[in-house]
Amino acid sequence: MINGKPVIGLTATTNYLPTNGEGPRMLALRICNTLAVAKGGGVPILSGEQCPEDFAQICDGLIFTGGPDVPPEFYDEKKLNETVRCDPIRDVYDKRLFDAFLKTEKPIFGICRGCQQLNVFFGGTLYQDIVEQCGWIHYSPHLFHYITTTEDSILCQLFGERFKVNSFHHQAIKDLASCFKATAYSVEGIIEAYEHKSLPVFATQFHPEMMATEYCDGRTADFQPIFNFFIRLTKEYAERPQLRNSVDLAELKKYLINTHSV
Ligand code: MN
Repeated sequence: MINGKPVIGLTATTNYLPTNGEGPRMLALRICNTLAVAKGGGVPILSGEQCPEDFAQICDGLIFTGGPDVPPEFYDEKKLNETVRCDPIRDVYDKRLFDAFLKTEKPIFGICRGCQQLNVFFGGTLYQDIVEQCGWIHYSPHLFHYITTTEDSILCQLFGERFKVNSFHHQAIKDLASCFKATAYSVEGIIEAYEHKSLPVFATQFHPEMMATEYCDGRTADFQPIFNFFIRLTKEYAERPQLRNSVDLAELKKYLINTHSV
Protein backbone atom coordinates (compact mmCIF):
# COMPACT_ATOMS: atom_id res chain seq x y z
CA MET A 1 0.00 0.00 0.00
CA ILE A 2 1.19 3.49 -0.74
CA ASN A 3 -0.72 6.68 0.18
CA GLY A 4 -3.69 4.49 1.06
CA LYS A 5 -3.70 2.86 -2.37
CA PRO A 6 -2.93 -0.79 -3.13
CA VAL A 7 0.00 -1.48 -5.44
CA ILE A 8 -1.11 -3.61 -8.38
CA GLY A 9 1.52 -5.53 -10.34
CA LEU A 10 0.87 -6.25 -14.01
CA THR A 11 2.74 -8.80 -16.09
CA ALA A 12 4.28 -7.29 -19.21
CA THR A 13 4.18 -8.73 -22.68
CA THR A 14 7.24 -8.46 -24.96
CA ASN A 15 8.36 -7.99 -28.57
CA TYR A 16 9.32 -11.70 -28.81
CA LEU A 17 6.57 -12.76 -31.24
CA PRO A 18 6.52 -9.70 -33.51
CA THR A 19 10.30 -9.92 -33.91
CA ASN A 20 10.57 -13.74 -33.87
CA GLY A 21 12.83 -13.43 -30.85
CA GLU A 22 15.47 -11.48 -32.80
CA GLY A 23 16.87 -8.17 -31.62
CA PRO A 24 16.88 -6.73 -28.11
CA ARG A 25 14.11 -7.98 -25.86
CA MET A 26 11.61 -5.26 -24.87
CA LEU A 27 8.66 -5.10 -22.49
CA ALA A 28 5.29 -3.76 -23.57
CA LEU A 29 1.74 -3.39 -22.31
CA ARG A 30 -1.36 -1.68 -23.61
CA ILE A 31 -1.97 1.44 -21.53
CA CYS A 32 -5.64 0.51 -21.08
CA ASN A 33 -4.39 -1.98 -18.42
CA THR A 34 -2.60 0.56 -16.24
CA LEU A 35 -5.30 3.18 -16.84
CA ALA A 36 -8.03 0.83 -15.58
CA VAL A 37 -5.98 0.11 -12.44
CA ALA A 38 -5.29 3.79 -11.76
CA LYS A 39 -8.94 4.73 -12.34
CA GLY A 40 -9.93 2.03 -9.89
CA GLY A 41 -7.74 3.53 -7.16
CA GLY A 42 -4.65 1.33 -7.47
CA VAL A 43 -1.03 2.13 -8.26
CA PRO A 44 -0.07 0.12 -11.37
CA ILE A 45 3.48 -1.19 -11.72
CA LEU A 46 4.89 -3.43 -14.44
CA SER A 47 6.85 -6.59 -13.78
CA GLY A 48 10.26 -6.41 -15.41
CA GLU A 49 11.01 -10.15 -15.73
CA GLN A 50 13.34 -9.93 -12.72
CA CYS A 51 13.15 -10.63 -8.97
CA PRO A 52 9.78 -12.44 -8.84
CA GLU A 53 9.87 -13.00 -5.06
CA ASP A 54 10.60 -9.33 -4.37
CA PHE A 55 7.94 -8.22 -6.84
CA ALA A 56 5.42 -10.40 -5.02
CA GLN A 57 6.32 -8.62 -1.77
CA ILE A 58 5.99 -5.12 -3.25
CA CYS A 59 2.60 -5.78 -4.82
CA ASP A 60 -0.71 -6.05 -2.94
CA GLY A 61 -2.44 -7.63 -5.94
CA LEU A 62 -1.40 -8.99 -9.33
CA ILE A 63 -2.95 -8.97 -12.80
CA PHE A 64 -1.82 -11.63 -15.26
CA THR A 65 -2.39 -9.74 -18.50
CA GLY A 66 -3.05 -10.94 -22.05
CA GLY A 67 -0.43 -12.15 -24.50
CA PRO A 68 0.81 -15.17 -26.47
CA ASP A 69 -0.26 -18.80 -26.01
CA VAL A 70 0.45 -20.86 -22.92
CA PRO A 71 3.05 -23.58 -23.63
CA PRO A 72 1.37 -27.01 -24.00
CA GLU A 73 4.25 -28.67 -22.09
CA PHE A 74 2.90 -26.94 -18.97
CA TYR A 75 -0.06 -29.34 -19.12
CA ASP A 76 1.81 -32.33 -20.57
CA GLU A 77 0.79 -31.95 -24.21
CA LYS A 78 2.79 -31.53 -27.40
CA LYS A 79 2.28 -28.51 -29.63
CA LEU A 80 -0.79 -29.18 -31.80
CA ASN A 81 0.08 -27.04 -34.84
CA GLU A 82 1.99 -23.98 -35.99
CA THR A 83 -0.70 -21.56 -34.80
CA VAL A 84 0.44 -22.24 -31.21
CA ARG A 85 2.99 -19.52 -30.53
CA CYS A 86 4.61 -18.92 -27.16
CA ASP A 87 7.16 -16.63 -25.55
CA PRO A 88 9.41 -19.04 -23.61
CA ILE A 89 11.15 -16.42 -21.45
CA ARG A 90 7.89 -14.82 -20.37
CA ASP A 91 6.37 -18.26 -19.76
CA VAL A 92 9.11 -19.22 -17.32
CA TYR A 93 9.10 -15.86 -15.57
CA ASP A 94 5.29 -15.76 -15.21
CA LYS A 95 5.37 -19.21 -13.58
CA ARG A 96 8.03 -18.06 -11.09
CA LEU A 97 5.98 -14.95 -10.34
CA PHE A 98 2.86 -17.05 -9.83
CA ASP A 99 4.67 -19.41 -7.42
CA ALA A 100 6.01 -16.47 -5.41
CA PHE A 101 2.66 -14.70 -5.38
CA LEU A 102 0.62 -17.75 -4.43
CA LYS A 103 2.65 -18.11 -1.23
CA THR A 104 1.49 -14.63 -0.18
CA GLU A 105 -2.21 -15.45 -0.84
CA LYS A 106 -2.77 -11.94 -2.19
CA PRO A 107 -5.49 -11.34 -4.81
CA ILE A 108 -4.86 -12.28 -8.45
CA PHE A 109 -6.90 -11.33 -11.54
CA GLY A 110 -6.24 -13.16 -14.81
CA ILE A 111 -7.17 -11.71 -18.19
CA CYS A 112 -7.24 -13.81 -21.41
CA ARG A 113 -3.78 -15.46 -21.45
CA GLY A 114 -3.80 -14.83 -17.67
CA CYS A 115 -7.10 -16.72 -17.40
CA GLN A 116 -5.62 -19.65 -19.34
CA GLN A 117 -2.31 -19.54 -17.45
CA LEU A 118 -3.90 -19.57 -13.99
CA ASN A 119 -6.06 -22.51 -15.00
CA VAL A 120 -2.95 -24.42 -16.10
CA PHE A 121 -0.93 -23.39 -13.02
CA PHE A 122 -3.73 -24.75 -10.80
CA GLY A 123 -3.85 -28.05 -12.72
CA GLY A 124 -6.27 -27.48 -15.63
CA THR A 125 -5.81 -27.89 -19.40
CA LEU A 126 -6.50 -25.86 -22.57
CA TYR A 127 -7.72 -26.17 -26.13
CA GLN A 128 -4.52 -25.18 -27.92
CA ASP A 129 -6.29 -23.91 -31.04
CA ILE A 130 -10.06 -23.58 -30.69
CA VAL A 131 -10.57 -23.21 -34.45
CA GLU A 132 -8.97 -26.58 -35.21
CA GLN A 133 -10.12 -28.44 -32.09
CA CYS A 134 -13.65 -27.05 -31.77
CA GLY A 135 -14.42 -25.19 -35.01
CA TRP A 136 -15.26 -21.98 -33.13
CA ILE A 137 -13.92 -18.56 -34.08
CA HIS A 138 -13.35 -16.35 -31.02
CA TYR A 139 -10.19 -14.62 -32.17
CA SER A 140 -10.55 -11.09 -33.48
CA PRO A 141 -10.39 -7.61 -31.98
CA HIS A 142 -13.62 -6.92 -33.92
CA LEU A 143 -15.56 -9.89 -32.57
CA PHE A 144 -18.16 -9.67 -29.79
CA HIS A 145 -20.48 -12.31 -28.33
CA TYR A 146 -22.88 -12.77 -25.44
CA ILE A 147 -21.97 -14.62 -22.27
CA THR A 148 -24.23 -16.01 -19.57
CA THR A 149 -23.10 -15.70 -15.98
CA THR A 150 -23.85 -17.89 -12.97
CA GLU A 151 -25.88 -16.65 -10.01
CA ASP A 152 -23.99 -14.77 -7.27
CA SER A 153 -20.80 -14.60 -9.36
CA ILE A 154 -18.78 -11.37 -9.42
CA LEU A 155 -19.75 -10.82 -13.08
CA CYS A 156 -23.44 -11.46 -12.45
CA GLN A 157 -23.51 -9.04 -9.53
CA LEU A 158 -21.65 -6.35 -11.46
CA PHE A 159 -23.06 -6.68 -14.99
CA GLY A 160 -26.08 -9.03 -14.91
CA GLU A 161 -26.98 -12.48 -16.20
CA ARG A 162 -26.29 -11.96 -19.90
CA PHE A 163 -24.19 -9.36 -21.66
CA LYS A 164 -21.83 -8.83 -24.57
CA VAL A 165 -18.04 -9.10 -24.36
CA ASN A 166 -15.14 -8.93 -26.80
CA SER A 167 -13.53 -12.16 -27.97
CA PHE A 168 -9.86 -12.00 -28.75
CA HIS A 169 -8.44 -15.39 -27.77
CA HIS A 170 -6.77 -18.18 -29.73
CA GLN A 171 -6.96 -20.73 -26.91
CA ALA A 172 -9.62 -21.62 -24.33
CA ILE A 173 -10.09 -23.66 -21.18
CA LYS A 174 -10.67 -27.40 -21.74
CA ASP A 175 -10.59 -28.93 -18.26
CA LEU A 176 -11.11 -26.37 -15.53
CA ALA A 177 -8.84 -26.81 -12.49
CA SER A 178 -10.86 -28.31 -9.62
CA CYS A 179 -10.19 -25.33 -7.30
CA PHE A 180 -12.19 -23.07 -9.65
CA LYS A 181 -15.88 -22.60 -10.31
CA ALA A 182 -16.89 -21.51 -13.85
CA THR A 183 -18.92 -18.30 -13.66
CA ALA A 184 -19.59 -17.41 -17.33
CA TYR A 185 -20.05 -19.30 -20.60
CA SER A 186 -20.32 -18.44 -24.29
CA VAL A 187 -23.18 -19.98 -26.31
CA GLU A 188 -20.87 -22.81 -27.41
CA GLY A 189 -20.06 -23.56 -23.77
CA ILE A 190 -16.60 -21.97 -23.66
CA ILE A 191 -15.71 -20.99 -20.10
CA GLU A 192 -15.41 -17.20 -20.27
CA ALA A 193 -14.80 -16.57 -16.53
CA TYR A 194 -14.13 -18.41 -13.28
CA GLU A 195 -13.52 -17.76 -9.60
CA HIS A 196 -11.37 -19.65 -7.12
CA LYS A 197 -13.44 -21.42 -4.46
CA SER A 198 -11.40 -20.22 -1.47
CA LEU A 199 -8.69 -17.76 -2.59
CA PRO A 200 -9.17 -14.18 -3.88
CA VAL A 201 -8.38 -15.29 -7.45
CA PHE A 202 -10.62 -14.83 -10.49
CA ALA A 203 -10.25 -14.50 -14.25
CA THR A 204 -12.00 -13.53 -17.46
CA GLN A 205 -11.34 -14.98 -20.91
CA PHE A 206 -12.43 -11.67 -22.46
CA HIS A 207 -10.54 -8.38 -22.17
CA PRO A 208 -12.37 -5.96 -19.81
CA GLU A 209 -9.48 -3.47 -19.95
CA MET A 210 -10.18 -2.94 -23.67
CA MET A 211 -13.79 -1.97 -22.82
CA ALA A 212 -13.19 0.20 -19.73
CA THR A 213 -13.80 3.94 -19.35
CA GLU A 214 -12.64 5.77 -22.50
CA TYR A 215 -11.93 2.45 -24.25
CA CYS A 216 -15.62 1.55 -23.99
CA ASP A 217 -17.09 2.39 -27.40
CA GLY A 218 -20.74 1.79 -26.49
CA ARG A 219 -21.00 -1.67 -28.06
CA THR A 220 -20.65 -3.21 -24.59
CA ALA A 221 -21.03 -2.19 -20.98
CA ASP A 222 -18.22 -0.13 -19.45
CA PHE A 223 -16.10 -2.77 -17.70
CA GLN A 224 -14.27 -0.38 -15.35
CA PRO A 225 -16.29 -1.78 -12.39
CA ILE A 226 -14.45 -5.11 -12.48
CA PHE A 227 -11.16 -3.28 -11.93
CA ASN A 228 -12.71 -1.16 -9.17
CA PHE A 229 -13.89 -4.37 -7.54
CA PHE A 230 -10.48 -6.07 -7.84
CA ILE A 231 -8.71 -3.08 -6.32
CA ARG A 232 -11.19 -2.88 -3.40
CA LEU A 233 -10.68 -6.59 -2.78
CA THR A 234 -6.91 -6.10 -2.87
CA LYS A 235 -7.13 -3.19 -0.46
CA GLU A 236 -9.27 -5.24 1.91
CA TYR A 237 -6.70 -8.06 1.96
CA ALA A 238 -3.80 -5.63 2.35
CA GLU A 239 -5.41 -3.84 5.29
CA ARG A 240 -6.69 -6.99 7.00
CA PRO A 241 -4.13 -9.80 6.61
CA GLN A 242 -6.15 -11.98 8.99
CA LEU A 243 -8.67 -12.39 6.14
CA ARG A 244 -6.33 -14.94 4.61
CA ASN A 245 -7.31 -17.61 7.11
CA SER A 246 -10.81 -16.74 8.13
CA VAL A 247 -12.71 -14.94 5.43
CA ASP A 248 -16.05 -16.00 3.98
CA LEU A 249 -15.01 -15.03 0.47
CA ALA A 250 -18.50 -15.11 -1.04
CA GLU A 251 -19.79 -12.77 1.68
CA LEU A 252 -16.82 -10.45 1.30
CA LYS A 253 -17.34 -10.20 -2.48
CA LYS A 254 -21.03 -9.41 -1.98
CA TYR A 255 -20.20 -6.84 0.68
CA LEU A 256 -17.64 -5.09 -1.54
CA ILE A 257 -20.01 -4.99 -4.49
CA ASN A 258 -23.02 -3.83 -2.46
CA THR A 259 -21.38 -1.24 -0.24
CA HIS A 260 -19.49 0.63 -2.95
CA SER A 261 -20.88 2.02 -6.16
CA VAL A 262 -18.41 0.05 -8.26
MN1 MN B 1 -14.81 -15.63 -26.47
